[in-house]
Amino acid sequence: MSIAKPLLNIFSDVFVERNGVVFYKTFVVGKWIDSGEYIDVKSPIDLSTIAKVSKLSWNHIDSALETIYSVGRWAVRDLPGWRRVEILEKAAQKLEEAKEDFIQILVLNAGKTRSQALGEITASIDRLNAAHLDARKIFGEYMPGDWDQTTVETEAIVRREPVGVVLAIIPFNYPLFDTVSKIVYSFVAGNAVVVKPPSADPLPVLLFAKILEVSGFPKEALAIATIPGSESDRLVADDRINVVSFTGSSETGRRVIEKAGIKQFVMELGGGDAAIVLADADLKLAAERSAMGIYSYSGQRCDAIKLILVEEPIYEEFKKAIVEELSKVKVGDPRQQGVVMGPLIDSKAVDEMMKAVEDAVKLGGVVLYGGKRLGETYVEPTLIEFIDREKIKQSMLYQKEVFAPIALITSFRDIDEAIDLANGRRYGLDAAIFGSNMERIRRLVRYLDVGAIYINDMPRHGVGYYPFGGRKHSGIGREGIGYSIEYVTAYKTVVYSYKGRGIWRYTL
Ligand code: NAP
Repeated sequence: MSIAKPLLNIFSDVFVERNGVVFYKTFVVGKWIDSGEYIDVKSPIDLSTIAKVSKLSWNHIDSALETIYSVGRWAVRDLPGWRRVEILEKAAQKLEEAKEDFIQILVLNAGKTRSQALGEITASIDRLNAAHLDARKIFGEYMPGDWDQTTVETEAIVRREPVGVVLAIIPFNYPLFDTVSKIVYSFVAGNAVVVKPPSADPLPVLLFAKILEVSGFPKEALAIATIPGSESDRLVADDRINVVSFTGSSETGRRVIEKAGIKQFVMELGGGDAAIVLADADLKLAAERSAMGIYSYSGQRCDAIKLILVEEPIYEEFKKAIVEELSKVKVGDPRQQGVVMGPLIDSKAVDEMMKAVEDAVKLGGVVLYGGKRLGETYVEPTLIEFIDREKIKQSMLYQKEVFAPIALITSFRDIDEAIDLANGRRYGLDAAIFGSNMERIRRLVRYLDVGAIYINDMPRHGVGYYPFGGRKHSGIGREGIGYSIEYVTAYKTVVYSYKGRGIWRYTL
């Protein structure tokens, strides 16, 4: 059993330790609040309670929204853009200094291996340092009025303005990076931010709030709403929230849209990608990357590979190669040397995966590798084969996203069959294509209903240098440097009419 206690001095007012239990406060418009009511935070490594986090009441949230809406959003808007970028760059530097504390917290709270935790922190630092690139996209437009009879002798400037307050709802799988990314584009564009952290692993979010505070982030423009999702309807619906930037499952996303009402949205929802392996692919590379797409961070990635489609002539050879790759994966406590796959976030996620294995086997699926539970929160990476391409479509794994290291595999005869199988899922986040014939690859590129395609690699969104986001049930909008600016800003058209000229052509 461990407790989640950062060591650096800057975090000393974020938590208090009482009788061996660590109580985290939460940051609300400049104050660290201990509400006296708590959410238990467990480690997926051994399910022990590693901290208790102050849970906010609606009164706390209501008063935070009032301050953010009446003071915070203007405080950000009035900060010059260069200063906003400077604050984020300072945060990158502070995050770098606090790296070791963040590694410990991500390992303990999210069950990541040290190198996965380091990867998330490095991506977060890079994202903060890329804020100046987002700034390059905050452009408006000058429009001459010459081209319409009614606007001659007038002209307009179309400004891109901040909308006000962004609610950033964070999933458990990248608690630090998703918080950083949503704060960067919202704040650079001139908005205040309310962050709703995941209840499973809110600790990295709270530590990052401290990083922002010491980096000069306007204190009235930030609140961390530590409340369970099941109690968040009122927050989502509040009119003082202008944009909802949500990352999470398609089911929660749908509810959020229904509750939010008339607002702007960025919705990054469920995924589970197809990998299509063509007969002329580099087989070793395709097997290696497809396997990694299944097991990395225990399959708890929106861009994890969940369906592998292999062209008939190389099917048997590919199967052998990918099974060999999966058999190399060492599963266990992520703090142990050599472990590449840690636990799932909780035991419910394991139950769900076991249900999916059982369902697939009942339908005639064959477990080619794995399939077993290894403890409360641990499983084997798993690959299930279907020969019958119609049966595969009935399986739970095909129809919904099972957030675990498990994928389906089958063969296809021609490109159109691969397109049909890939597009048949309700998700449309990404796809991977392995192969070399550009004409065949181009056909797939044109017909796959997805937001991003990775040729000769597994899908990986990384820092968002290239934009990503879903089609169909995988979402609305795009995350990515520069691209997300569109969803957290609004146009304002200012028409200059000189000497009251311009022809009144239409009767009002
Ligand atoms: P989730 O269960 O949908 O939760 C996501 C967030 O929504 C959590 O903060 C959760 O809070 C909150 N929430 C739950 N119910 C809510 C409600 N009624 N109103 C407002 N907020 C609510 O998803 P997850 O299990 O954390 O994350 C995994 C999912 O995220 C997967 O489906 C994955 O594909 C998706 N994801 C997508 C992308 C992408 O780019 N498309 C990236 C990463 C992850 P609580 O934790 O308190 O319940």
